[in-house]
Amino acid sequence: MKYDVTVIGSGPGGYIAAIRCAQLGMKTAIIEKYNTLGGTCLNVGCIPSKALLDSSEHYHNAAHTFGEHGIELKDLKVNLKQMIDRKAGVVSQVTSGVDFLMKKNKIDVFHGMGSFVDKNTIQVTDAEGKVTKVETEKAIIATGSKPASLQFINIDKKRVITSTEALELKEIPKHMIVIGGGVIGMELGSVYARLGAEVSVVEFMDDIIPSMDKTMGRELKKSLKKLGFNFYLGHKVTEVKGTAKTVTVKAENKKGELVEVKGDYCLVSIGRKPYTEGLGLENVGIKTDDRGRIEVDSHLVTSADNIYAIGDVIKGAMLAHKAEEEGVFVAEVINGEKPHINYNLIPGVVYTWPEVSAVGLTEEQLKESGRAYKSGSFSYRALGRAQASMDVAGLVKVLADKETDEILGVHMIGARTADMISEAVVAMEFRASAEDIARMSHAHPTYSEAFKEACLAATDNRALNA
Ligand code: FAD
Repeated sequence: MKYDVTVIGSGPGGYIAAIRCAQLGMKTAIIEKYNTLGGTCLNVGCIPSKALLDSSEHYHNAAHTFGEHGIELKDLKVNLKQMIDRKAGVVSQVTSGVDFLMKKNKIDVFHGMGSFVDKNTIQVTDAEGKVTKVETEKAIIATGSKPASLQFINIDKKRVITSTEALELKEIPKHMIVIGGGVIGMELGSVYARLGAEVSVVEFMDDIIPSMDKTMGRELKKSLKKLGFNFYLGHKVTEVKGTAKTVTVKAENKKGELVEVKGDYCLVSIGRKPYTEGLGLENVGIKTDDRGRIEVDSHLVTSADNIYAIGDVIKGAMLAHKAEEEGVFVAEVINGEKPHINYNLIPGVVYTWPEVSAVGLTEEQLKESGRAYKSGSFSYRALGRAQASMDVAGLVKVLADKETDEILGVHMIGARTADMISEAVVAMEFRASAEDIARMSHAHPTYSEAFKEACLAATDNRALNA
């Protein structure tokens, strides 16, 4: 059988691209190395991490805030096995949802490693070594990414682990050392801190979540410290030594002073690297850049003119919803349409508690570009909704053009900002001014009132409840 389009990789980029191709009438196949579909996101990324974040947050609240709400509990304890089993159940439910979608859209699924033989032939080798050849007019590479490490770190997957193993631990660590203060480290560190682990973060930069607006990192650090996190910021890891039961991490600060941190688990979360091994890129002349990412043009076409690439394997934010947008984009380009992605408006979220969410430019980027801007902030503490729920940590910061008042960046930390950020995306997509939002009615009492008030603050400093 010859296909119009064959997608390699079934993560959020790949499976969404396959569905859109099928919707547009193309005969479509998808190739996935593993037995389950859904890629990193559904199997070992977004979904399982959020399942554990939710479970651990319930426990943390039961232990620390229920009393104040007037709910008394006796003999509260964590059943980690049940927590991990529930997470596995959620993963199984969402991945079987993708199976269903493939059948519904009449997409042929091949399980095995996909490798280019030539521009129109992909060889699929399954777990038993059986080889099938798939003929295709066009191909979309959506092979995603793998955890990155440092050359001198031996990830033994027992004591020195990546996010994948951190989602499957058999015991609650006594002391988890997290290398890397980025999103994944802060989220998985939060899971185990809430369950009672001491968590120490060693980060090379001077802030956590360093790519976000600096105010966000500063505020998040305060909340995580209350949860029991220790921070070694501005520290470069020089050695990681694991034994059967312990891990020792050595790090050096900018003055050359050494620290030694001892724990029982070390999570290495210093980022992810594109995954192209075994794809046979050399057989089709596809190039990668100095960071191993597949090079693409503005239509996401690789150096082979019938092969496209999307998601974590190319440049840009390593986020599921960015991969999805690119999946739809490429399918529509193949169909002769002229779609568009506004990369400036891909929101970023950290699912800690409080959640951190952002879209658009940071204050640091605005300063660096020299653009005249104004800023308005509103604290969660002044919200009736936050007082009622006892979630008073947080703020919303709106950055707008000084002359035109157009919103240029929105940065939020607080309860449920992951859902609230969508309003800012819509506003910015329609190029709203801060005053536009300030004049729109927001339901009371909600957390979303903080966005309206921050917009009022950015508009001639006229927040009403501050
Ligand atoms: P992937 O999801 O990585 O999928 C690629 C697929 O290709 C894999 O299934 C792989 O097995 C398959 N594959 C690779 N090579 C071959 C081959 N040669 N043949 C056949 N199949 C192949 N992002 C968010 O937006 N929100 C979050 O909350 C979030 N949380 C995360 C939490 C964790 C712990 C991690 C690790 C990541 C998280 N991410 C999150 C990032 C998100 O998972 C990725 O950005 C997203 O999965 C990228 O999608 P993709 O389709 O490009 O690739």
